[in-house]
Amino acid sequence: ALHIPKCLELVDLDQQMTSPAAKVPYYPLVVDKGKGATVTDVDGNQYIDLLASAGAINTGHCHPKVVEAIKKQTEQLILYTPVYMYHRPLIDLSQKLIEITPGNYRKRVFYGLCGSDANDGAIKMARTATKRKKILSFLRAYHGSTYGAISLSAVSLPMRRGLGPLLPEIHHIPYPDTYRTPFAGMSEEDVTAYSIERIKELFTTCVPAEEVAAIFFEPIQGDAGLIVPPTGYVKALRELCDTYGILLISEEVQQGFGRTGKWFGIENFDVIPDAIVMGKAIASGMPLGGVVAKAELMEQWEAPAHLFTAAGNPVCCAAASATIDVIKEENLRENATEIGAYTLSRFKEMQKRFEFIGDVRGIGLSIGVDLVKDRTTKERNTEAAAKVCYQAWQKGLLLSFFSGSVLRIQPPLVISKQQIDTALAKIEEAFEEYEAGAIPDSVLETVKGW
Ligand code: PMP
Repeated sequence: ALHIPKCLELVDLDQQMTSPAAKVPYYPLVVDKGKGATVTDVDGNQYIDLLASAGAINTGHCHPKVVEAIKKQTEQLILYTPVYMYHRPLIDLSQKLIEITPGNYRKRVFYGLCGSDANDGAIKMARTATKRKKILSFLRAYHGSTYGAISLSAVSLPMRRGLGPLLPEIHHIPYPDTYRTPFAGMSEEDVTAYSIERIKELFTTCVPAEEVAAIFFEPIQGDAGLIVPPTGYVKALRELCDTYGILLISEEVQQGFGRTGKWFGIENFDVIPDAIVMGKAIASGMPLGGVVAKAELMEQWEAPAHLFTAAGNPVCCAAASATIDVIKEENLRENATEIGAYTLSRFKEMQKRFEFIGDVRGIGLSIGVDLVKDRTTKERNTEAAAKVCYQAWQKGLLLSFFSGSVLRIQPPLVISKQQIDTALAKIEEAFEEYEAGAIPDSVLETVKGW
């Protein structure tokens, strides 16, 4: 077993003070250092990181170029609020973001502090630009924790229960999930047709299309369990939006910045959105979020309407510019594609061996391994997911799951072939131990997941 006395002592202190509402319990790991695709705890144990702090560290922990940019900017100027004045790091970053986002149209950018508030900004932008109030988003989507973002989200009851009233006029539509019911066994074309039909049904029954401002769409549905839509669906959604004058907003907080092998996830489907919501990996872990959109969408929006004192502050902008440079210079998109395809194929091999692996899916280094109790009913196997995550931790691997059953494979994009091989071997061992009934039920007291 791991030797973790300092971890246990600190976790005990933390648990006396920190709000439990801000925690998803896993295991008593107190992270001390990070480097590349690894982290070290306060007792000196090292782990390969498959969580990349929730898909937010694409360039790897403490990438020297990012660290250098942060240090340099910190010594020069930490904050002058962009609300009142201008600063170069923000201007440089806007140029880069405009360059790397898809769409040959004139663009503008606004910044926030995280993915959640970027979504709130996008709601405001969509409503003011279209003069329409209604918004569509997807069942099982997670868009963040501010009131606007939880109103868009529909993934977990504790995120909503007792918190209302939420933002009105938001309607949830089914995501085109080809694995779980009611789409199980249907072809991609049928899933597409069925899912688009559900939106049209809303339009003819309770949500007039001409009152809908925008559809918030994740090109891979992240916290829902990394669900990959059929290509045809994304194209059909674009057409539907064009038909009714609805904005297609690509919510790329989790999939952006190279994770899927492209700058943004929606590029995998050859579809151009009207706006892109960003967060997480944009600044390699520094708090920054934002939206890049068609310029005219922001130009009808009266100032001052959306501002935060430290949003787009010089240090975070410098970190983001360095992040974009590193992704380019180190070919991290290519690495995500190559290592991702290899990892996906290795899990597909394991699926042949282990009956409880129901589905393996993903693009680039956004891979979900869905564990089930039964391949026919597809009932989620939360016990297997929790036990495997616990065991992986014991073996020196940071692994988590979402939606009650889906192992989340989202390492930093700098992960090497050797590191991923080590990680895959440890997961395979954990699968064997689970299958042999060798992981005690007591670990379920520790690992809760969600
Ligand atoms: N959108 C998506 C798709 C996310 O995955 C997340 C975080 N899991 C968020 C928004 C919220 O981002 P943040 O935690 O930075 O507010």
